[in-house]
Amino acid sequence: MAQKFLFYALGTENSITLESENAEDVAEKIIARVRNIEEKMSAFKSKSEVAEISRCAGRVPVRVSDELFYILETALEISRVSKGAFDVTVRPLTSLWNIGKGTDVIPKESEIEKAKSLVGYETLVLDSQEKTAFLTKLGGALDLGGIAKGYAADEAKRILLDNGINKGLINFGGNIVTVGSGFDRAPWKIGIQNPLSTRSDYVTTLEIENKSIVTSAVNERFFIKDSMRYHHIISPLTGYPAQSELLSVTVIDDCSMTADVLSTAAYVLGLLEGSRLIKQFGAQAIFITQNGDILSTFEGKAVL
Ligand code: AMP
Ligand code: MG
Repeated sequence: MAQKFLFYALGTENSITLESENAEDVAEKIIARVRNIEEKMSAFKSKSEVAEISRCAGRVPVRVSDELFYILETALEISRVSKGAFDVTVRPLTSLWNIGKGTDVIPKESEIEKAKSLVGYETLVLDSQEKTAFLTKLGGALDLGGIAKGYAADEAKRILLDNGINKGLINFGGNIVTVGSGFDRAPWKIGIQNPLSTRSDYVTTLEIENKSIVTSAVNERFFIKDSMRYHHIISPLTGYPAQSELLSVTVIDDCSMTADVLSTAAYVLGLLEGSRLIKQFGAQAIFITQNGDILSTFEGKAVL
């Protein structure tokens, strides 16, 4: 019998579904590991390494753990190739907008300009010898919200495999990893949500083994004012929630962290440049556009 373990971490609901005699022990190991990642990566926890880098911005470099260094290197690489559409230094803007935290206020233009001036991936300097991270601008700050869940999901998969479990389903706030084929030899069936509807309304279902499936969409965290939807993915260029012909981007890749960054970056870039970026990384994607089109490069089986 498969068992589903639910827990809250990384600002979202998470689940692990396992079928094994030691399911409970392994789930506990994974949950502890995710909490450990959160302690290091959260912008909201004052003792996290990420918060420390932000606190020291404009003053001194901070020595960080190997794993945070690796995540920051990956984030910086995607920031460069996406020409700043994905930007790990976006926090001054995301904290100003504070989407999904209940205030629902559109910031003043002057505040947006000020926050925008503090954002820029070139202000993050990584020293691979010293293993330090330094934000060169006073007031600069890091936001790993677009990458940490993917990293955590990859870690969860590693822990499953290390413990001899070769089947399972990991879902960290929509960052999904299918491990092995489905239970009872059935393929995993992963629904792609209608981005304008409730959580269980699917536009298509993928039959998929051993892949990560990650979606960035307008319906995750948002508020509506004067018929405009203000959502949680911010364009560092405009300082406003990213506007394009897209409602959602789903990226399918072996690595959940890659899928996580690519989906966020492609959402900001829009259909044309976003699909180019995803292709460049050898990943696959499903785009849902404002006018209801579903465009897919997914090569496996998708059922409506
Ligand atoms: P996701 O749901 O993976 O697309 O990530 C969205 C989260 O990433 C937001 O809640 C922010 O924490 C962060 N974020 C928002 N805009 C950007 C951006 N342009 N680049 C990098 N991270 C972002
Ligand atoms: Mg993401």
